Amino acid sequence: MVVSFQLSPEQEQLKVGARAFAEEHLRDLAAAVRAEPDPLTRALLARPAFEKAVGAGFLKGLIPTAVGGAAGSGVDAAIFVEEWATQSPDFTISFAGPLIALMPVYEVGTPEQVQRFVAPFLADSGAPLAAMAFSEPGGSANFDAEAPAAGTTTTAVPDGDHYVVNGTKAWASHLSGWDGDGPDLMTIVCRAPGGVSLLVAEREHLAGHLEVEEHYDLPGLRGCLTSRVRLRDVRVPRANLLGAEGQGVALTRNAFLPSGASIGIFAVAAMRGAFELAHRFATTETRGGAEPIIAHQAVADALSDAKGRIEAVRLLSWRALDAVMSQHPSALELGLHAKVLGSETAVEVVQRLMQVVGVTAYDERFPLAEYLQEALAYPLIEGSNIGVRRRQLQALLRTPGYDPLAASGMS
Ligand SMILES: Cc1cc2nc3c(=O)[nH]c(=O)nc-3n(C[C@H](O)[C@H](O)[C@H](O)COP(=O)(O)OP(=O)(O)OC[C@H]3O[C@@H](n4cnc5c(N)ncnc54)[C@H](O)[C@@H]3O)c2cc1C
Repeated sequence: MVVSFQLSPEQEQLKVGARAFAEEHLRDLAAAVRAEPDPLTRALLARPAFEKAVGAGFLKGLIPTAVGGAAGSGVDAAIFVEEWATQSPDFTISFAGPLIALMPVYEVGTPEQVQRFVAPFLADSGAPLAAMAFSEPGGSANFDAEAPAAGTTTTAVPDGDHYVVNGTKAWASHLSGWDGDGPDLMTIVCRAPGGVSLLVAEREHLAGHLEVEEHYDLPGLRGCLTSRVRLRDVRVPRANLLGAEGQGVALTRNAFLPSGASIGIFAVAAMRGAFELAHRFATTETRGGAEPIIAHQAVADALSDAKGRIEAVRLLSWRALDAVMSQHPSALELGLHAKVLGSETAVEVVQRLMQVVGVTAYDERFPLAEYLQEALAYPLIEGSNIGVRRRQLQALLRTPGYDPLAASGMS
């Protein structure tokens, strides 16, 4: 990245295009999703916008150019995510499934696998879905643990040219697909004879062998269709193994790197929305006093502290996504900080902005608390900060010869 922080004309165009799409198609969708009590119906409301986004080329924009897509730089990705997530983070998360599920394909897939697995997501129409089936109901922070711990419990047993997969997966967006027969592609973290491994199941393998046990009813990000599904005797060709048996732990960690870094930008979107509301309130409401409440120093301080932290998280996340997309050695460390610092800052900032507004913020009709519900998810999803992400940071800090200046290039 050339260090200037000015958006290029192309990035300005991307911002305007993403914002226009979000205002036209995601704002009303978000309102409809809020009003719908049933999790499955809520998720299905998104399908028309999903198809429009595919038609407008946004799905291809998630796929690297090296494999036929049109993904730009990390900063491009950050601009796009911020604009969409400002209107509907749940739609953005649901749409971005291929970002995680296809990462291991790019990393170790054979040319034939890359061609076959990426093809559905280069489409100009339809609503293709990809899911990264990592999490399990009994826990996933210790997915790499070996017996006698449970670790990954989904099994893949070789049977001739196939593996037979059995287990229960949970939480991942769109595990059930649009119709309960599974997504177009599901990358399954499972235990094969050689250890934790990744298998790609296509829809034809899943249909009839996937049972939806429950759709979760989330307090925030309500349009994300997260479910618990049972995989029963799913026969996946051995040709769909990614890399080698036993490579699954490293591949899974790498798969969540871009999405983890992007959580910093989801956090920015929540803070940005909350700031706009709180600032408008503070500059227009007197609450019975002589002047708008921004005249009180404490109110102005809370707003300026929030603004400074939003700018800081945005810059950190741009840098992290830039490193991730360009596969720079600092990607892991910066990506983890964008995830952990970004998500925890968002919770604190939105909560503080609610205090600026006062009791009005606790009225359902005043939309500030929605941003808190979104922000509360970010330390927990894409690998919880305590169970997954801070442990990765600890491992980095304990690496012999760790150089604290390396990530910033200031060594
Ligand atoms: C909207 C949404 C979308 C999601 N998308 C996906 C997806 O696409 N794919 C997917 O697979 N999952 C997905 N998830 C699940 C999400 O990624 C979780 O972060 C993941 O399941 C890990 O959860 P966890 O770390 O809380 O693990 P758990 O194993 O449930 O751990 C729970 C808690 O126990 C503690 N803990 C456990 N082990 C340790 C340890 N060794 N050290 C320290 N503390 C420990 C921590 O406090 C941790 O937070 C999604 C969830 C939501 C809500």
